[in-house]
Amino acid sequence: MKAIRVNEFGGAEVLKLEETPDLKPGPGQVLVRVKAAGVNPVDTYIRTGTYGARKPALPFTPGMDGAGIVESVGTGVTRVKAGDRVYLADSISGTYAELALCSEAQAHALPGKVSFAQGAAVWVPYATAYRALFQMAHAKAGETVLVHGASGGVGVAAVQIARAAGLRVIGTGGTEQGRKLVLEQGAHFAVDHRGGDYLAEVLVHTGGQGVNVILEMLANVNLGKVLPILARNGRVVVIGSRGPVEINPRDLMGRDARIIGMSLLTAPPEDAAGIRSALAAGMENGTLRPVVGREMPLADAAKAHTAIMEGGALGKIVLIP
Ligand code: NAP
Repeated sequence: MKAIRVNEFGGAEVLKLEETPDLKPGPGQVLVRVKAAGVNPVDTYIRTGTYGARKPALPFTPGMDGAGIVESVGTGVTRVKAGDRVYLADSISGTYAELALCSEAQAHALPGKVSFAQGAAVWVPYATAYRALFQMAHAKAGETVLVHGASGGVGVAAVQIARAAGLRVIGTGGTEQGRKLVLEQGAHFAVDHRGGDYLAEVLVHTGGQGVNVILEMLANVNLGKVLPILARNGRVVVIGSRGPVEINPRDLMGRDARIIGMSLLTAPPEDAAGIRSALAAGMENGTLRPVVGREMPLADAAKAHTAIMEGGALGKIVLIP
């Protein structure tokens, strides 16, 4: 089978398309013919070998998100069978490949109305958005949420989920096309995080009351400046950060406000089970509608890694084996 392999940690150029031996499922494992693999920023951090939470042994195939058809199952597997459409919530062997091995717990039914490319955009983005909104911020209907970085994978997911749950949604995008997408996905307002005093504009959209919840995609740039636009009892969930940042704790103190860090990778099993149930319901009732901005051939994995870090996001980038 063909797979993207990382033989040494480094830049995007270390991603190479290689011929590797076919995989066979062991007991409790599922082999999936991958139809689409989702590209996430975390894949690029892992590729460099500097990401503390996950440093695979070399060589390895990257990718935590994917969707496809079950090829075969190992002994003891009862929840899925050959021929089933599934999305993957992480895998054992990596999803940037024609075949991916996963545990039974990582393979989940993909309804017929959700395409494989969309299925490859389900787990990391939607699980992160759901966990941030409900398991971390405990967001409630009627509250206002600022999705700070709403045009990308997690942001689009957060906008859709928050809107369906009755929140007032303000999303940011760095391009006109991105902001158009954010509005199309359900945001009440979209503002430009690359332009002037856009946080003052956010405050105006709350009638000066401040936002109850902020989902922060780039905390190292934004954390210090978003705290003053929080409402009383406001919560900031740090989803993405690429370095240190300075804050003024008094911006929190006067508001009884909180900053909450989160990582999907370390979610306890009971939380992950809750997320999977919510995602299944969202796919069934149509509130979960992954947006695929770009499909690229598997061989272009290096270009996809460069593209996802360049900005100008429009939903997800997926690789097609
Ligand atoms: P993505 O698809 O690449 O999207 C990145 C988003 O950030 C885009 O909406 C982008 O907008 C926006 N952005 C760029 N500059 C910004 C700024 N100055 N202020 C606010 N937003 C800005 O990435 P993603 O998959 O949505 O992930 C977003 C972040 O969350 C990444 O850092 C990722 O590593 C992290 N993440 C963390 C977890 C976790 O468990 N904690 C899970 C998933 C993702 P434009 O491109 O329109 O400028």
